[in-house]
Amino acid sequence: MIIVMKPAAPQASIQHVVSMVREAGLETHLSEGKEVTIIGVVGDKSRLQDTNLELAPDVEKIVPITESYKLSNKKFHPDPSTIQVGNTEIGPNTLTIMAGPCAIESEKQLLSIAHAVKAAGANFLRGGAYKPRTSPYSFQGLEEEGLLYMKHAKEETGLSTICEVISRESLACAIKYVDMIQIGARNMQNFQLLREVGKAGVPVMLKRGLSATIEEWLNAAEYIISEGNPHVVLCERGIRTYETSTRNTLDISAVPVLKSKTHLPVIVDPSHASGVWEYVAPLSRCAVAVGADGLMIEVHNNPECALSDGAQSLTFAHFSQLTQELKAYAQLAGRNF
Ligand code: PEP
Ligand code: MN
Repeated sequence: MIIVMKPAAPQASIQHVVSMVREAGLETHLSEGKEVTIIGVVGDKSRLQDTNLELAPDVEKIVPITESYKLSNKKFHPDPSTIQVGNTEIGPNTLTIMAGPCAIESEKQLLSIAHAVKAAGANFLRGGAYKPRTSPYSFQGLEEEGLLYMKHAKEETGLSTICEVISRESLACAIKYVDMIQIGARNMQNFQLLREVGKAGVPVMLKRGLSATIEEWLNAAEYIISEGNPHVVLCERGIRTYETSTRNTLDISAVPVLKSKTHLPVIVDPSHASGVWEYVAPLSRCAVAVGADGLMIEVHNNPECALSDGAQSLTFAHFSQLTQELKAYAQLAGRNF
């Protein structure tokens, strides 16, 4: 439930309500607007059965919440969140462009891609050091060596960096080298890993599971936030459907649906959604038009020879053409880019 306080309610009244809730053994989450303070109640509400919260001074109303996710729920936190990653912001005022190879293959490869995507206007370098591949015989990533190259690329270009982690060990290693952690589709419901990322407190991008509903996805975000880490960004990367002409089906409606249900920023990944480089540009334009806060795009110096996901990777020329085109879309959407 949430407790809406009357406009300009004094601190003493707010603290009184907070104490009543805490005394019943529940947690509170305060959202302080210019006029109105909203107190979110987290935990088993039956413990409040004998407490008449609506009678407390300056309480306007009590609104029950049926969704099981609370901290990611827009009702608790009506304004969209901005997530700060180093000197980069992900949120309603900007268009964040994350770009880079599916997998980090060598230092030379990563640095050349980093310089190219930076020149084209990207703010984040992506690159996989731990690759959760469908086949155990496919390239699995350079692990810590790849993370070190990410650090060098950041030092050379000033780009923020993001890398996927797949285990507690890879998380402990990655946070020494990169600015933001990615939880991939295959681990969206790896609840232990989500809790670990929550405890680590680092900014995290949580991709949607291959067949996850939006409700399941928001509950996965809740695992991270409930451990004390509010720096969560969601990434729609396509879902499994019966259609075979694309690798997955980009659920573009997920963007407005999420915007109505959560305050967390939303990124769209048209590369994994489509699996085909030619579809990446139209889907990117569509994502910006529908309200996405950013894009994650795979870019490779030589897609034909990529060790992973070459078919969906943009060349430097195509990526640069796309970012040029996106300027007008960003402007229409009222976002700085
Ligand atoms: C990736 O971003 O490289 C990746 C593996 O994506 P997903 O988890 O969405 O499949
Ligand atoms: Mn990939």
